Amino acid sequence: MTANRSLLLLPGDGIGPEVMDATRRVIDWFDRENRLNVDIGEALVGGASIDAHGTPLTDDTLERAKSVDAVLFGAVGGPRWDGLDFSMRPERALLGLRKEMELFANLRPAVVYPALSHASSLKPGIVSGLDIMIVRELTGGIYFGEPRGIEDTGGGERRGVNTLVYTTREILRVGRVAFELARKRNGRVCSVDKSNVLESTLLWRQEMTRLGAEEYPDVELTHMLADNAAMQLVRDPRQFDVMVTTNMFGDILSDCAAMLTGSLGMLPSASLGARSGDRIPALYEPVHGTAPDIAGTNRANPLAMLSSFAMMLRYSFDLQDEATLVDASIGAVLESGLRTADIMEDGGRQVTTTAMAEALVAEIEKRA
Ligand code: NAD
Repeated sequence: MTANRSLLLLPGDGIGPEVMDATRRVIDWFDRENRLNVDIGEALVGGASIDAHGTPLTDDTLERAKSVDAVLFGAVGGPRWDGLDFSMRPERALLGLRKEMELFANLRPAVVYPALSHASSLKPGIVSGLDIMIVRELTGGIYFGEPRGIEDTGGGERRGVNTLVYTTREILRVGRVAFELARKRNGRVCSVDKSNVLESTLLWRQEMTRLGAEEYPDVELTHMLADNAAMQLVRDPRQFDVMVTTNMFGDILSDCAAMLTGSLGMLPSASLGARSGDRIPALYEPVHGTAPDIAGTNRANPLAMLSSFAMMLRYSFDLQDEATLVDASIGAVLESGLRTADIMEDGGRQVTTTAMAEALVAEIEKRA
């Protein structure tokens, strides 16, 4: 049978290849069961690509990433390449992929599995069962606006400038991602801005309101100021379904929401580009880095990567049952007490990266 989907695996450096290997076991299971029907390629990226090809991202790898249905990315970087010039650092690979694939929407779910609810810094009663999605605009706003820079203004004074700018097009395209997600979830979008003091985000609010009314009347749209959103995230995070916000507010709020879940090893993410025909450029990756302190010891938690793969099933391949199967199996494995070292606790049974992946495949098999 010829595959009708294509996937590129970019394991990267440090624990990247270890969590990718764990995820590959689950991918292979779906493939064996004919539930994925995917053509799988693999390439070096980051430090591994620097060592082999002298560049963190070769043209060939970039072209392959642009032509497949989805990219699954591990993590890049490490002390071995820290001395290199900024333009040659492993991290350039990720920035290059985001830029060239025009990935403007960053999806960061914050999910608290009941078995881990006491790992959060908040009370279990506030976070247990939490399942929210933060959509951050990724390629515009104050991180990219011009003019920018630091200038001498004379007399020992200097002036630092950044520009917060958004256009209708930039707002609408990320807004549509949020509304579409809400339709697949609980039908609610909260748009976050500072429209009381910033004109660019007053435009944000106006355009979101228009978009909701004209194209998504079935989705409930609310607005919240960013300072209040930060408070509400730690006061009562379960009130949210999908939050959509600007690049800088999203940067801050998604990290805040991430910590509600208790561990870096549990956090997946997706970055999506503009639909062209029936294809949406997409890159899925765990939020964590290469963890040089534990790399090579089979101790990394593979669940962030596995959840990223589940997001891929859901959003790139529209395989809702398969995505739910992976998510539910992760919950069950945690419920059974299995823990990698980073989430280990009293009463848990510590396992390696590989053993966690094997347990997950067994659970998926049992539930399928
Ligand atoms: P990190 O996320 O790699 O590690 C932070 C801490 O969390 C470490 O103690 C690590 O052991 C632990 N940790 C992270 N992921 C884990 C997992 N899956 N299981 C268990 N423990 C885990 O962040 P850092 O130490 O600041 O950065 C290390 C390297 O990774 C740097 O070179 C940095 O540039 C790179 N980095 C890459 C990405 C990326 O590729 N997206 C993101 C962040 C950092």
